[in-house]
Amino acid sequence: MDSLKRTKVVDALNATAGQKILVKGWVRTRRGNKSVGFIALNDGSTIKNIQIVVDFEKIPEDSIKTITTGACIAAEGELVESQGKGQAVEILAEKIEIYGTADPETYPLQKKGHSMEYLREIAHLRPRTNTFGAVLRIRHNMAYAIHTYFHEHGYYYFHTPIITASDCEGAGQMFQVTTKNLYDLKKDENGSIDYRDDFFGKQASLTVSGQLEGELGATALGAIYTFGPTFRAENSNTPRHLAEFWMIEPEIAFMDKTELMDLEEDFVKFCVRWALDHCADDLEFLNNMIDKGLIERLKSVVDTEFVRLPYTEGINILQDAIKKGKKFEFPCNWGDDLSSEHERYLVEEHFKRPVIMTDYPREIKAFYMKINEDGKTVQGTDVLFPQIGEIIGGSVREEDYDKLMKEIEVRNIPMKDMWWYLDTRRYGSCPHAGFGLGFERLMLFVTGMQNIRDVIPFPRTPNNAEF
Ligand code: ATP
Ligand code: MN
Repeated sequence: MDSLKRTKVVDALNATAGQKILVKGWVRTRRGNKSVGFIALNDGSTIKNIQIVVDFEKIPEDSIKTITTGACIAAEGELVESQGKGQAVEILAEKIEIYGTADPETYPLQKKGHSMEYLREIAHLRPRTNTFGAVLRIRHNMAYAIHTYFHEHGYYYFHTPIITASDCEGAGQMFQVTTKNLYDLKKDENGSIDYRDDFFGKQASLTVSGQLEGELGATALGAIYTFGPTFRAENSNTPRHLAEFWMIEPEIAFMDKTELMDLEEDFVKFCVRWALDHCADDLEFLNNMIDKGLIERLKSVVDTEFVRLPYTEGINILQDAIKKGKKFEFPCNWGDDLSSEHERYLVEEHFKRPVIMTDYPREIKAFYMKINEDGKTVQGTDVLFPQIGEIIGGSVREEDYDKLMKEIEVRNIPMKDMWWYLDTRRYGSCPHAGFGLGFERLMLFVTGMQNIRDVIPFPRTPNNAEF
């Protein structure tokens, strides 16, 4: 059977009729009547199936009895123009080989229209559904778009460590990494654990961000980006947070606030445009099945200019809305961290466009953000999106050693292991800026999926590390 080279379904569907063809894949459905059987075959190369027509005079019906939904087969035959509706070509089977059957009594993906919750319980098989096939092909294309964008703009892909011993950011949110025997933990007279005999000789964790190391790259190579896994042990069971997610973090020397906002806007638009240009079939499917407004929303983001809004003006707008009767769950006075209901009000109801919010109160932002001349606000530049809220967190970094040190002291940040970071400000310090984009937040936007657990193959969330 393998004398013929295998053709992927995506190519078979575009091939001209009249040639011999061999396809391999997983059966989506099998139907038929007494004289002929129809098998819809999918191999992951496209959302579309190819139809295999089995004439029982040539191939006895008995021999294909075990070809049920989920089975894996190879089928060889002539590619012909289809008699039926729904496809241009189909294959008249001459030979069929069964690689693996799927017992219909137990195979979990029998019927269509399973709930997202149920599919999460069978995450090992859900990539075989139309929805997850589409999402995962788009995910690949988005990763490719990101590398393409930065490569074409002269950024270097810079690999920052996944294990880190610097605990300056969100110490409470970190997963510890240790080879210590947890059944036999020795503590000193103060009740503290001695890490000197641990693997790294000090307390270590999984990274919550590659930014600090990214700054080391930017202040040498000029412009870098990271694209790697990030870990946060935040116990927030929301549809927008994962314990393990992928983050893209460009960091650029000599970039100011306006240039940073330009980059954020240009980059996100590039990614969305890429999806529209390269994932049309999958987007069309998601638009039909998941979110009727999806493609329109993607096009509108590509075509509109983002609003650039200082935090203080944003608070004024929210306060006005409250005066006019708008109810929010959380307060939003000057100095409060906005929650996603506020962000979404500004984006979806007030401006009806993505918003880049700038110049936040320094107390609610990280220590490394550049302080404005007012002494009260910092040069953050977060991008807020419809449906999602915050998709990008960015800022100009404080390059002044003394100002940075003061912020570290005021905040009691343990910097004993951070001497290397401060060296960027001691030797050849330079203005620089960067941002972090949560890959799965971008995926939520591009696919129209509602829950972040459904845009990554195997989600990690509180109480869930199956598969
Ligand atoms: P949020 O307020 O939504 O929790 P954050 O302020 O903690 O976000 P940053 O620390 O600025 O986020 O991280 C940069 C980006 O990483 C965010 O804009 C978001 O896109 C993404 N992100 C942050 N936390 C998570 C998470 N737990 N799961 C998925 N993506 C995340
Ligand atoms: Mn967070």
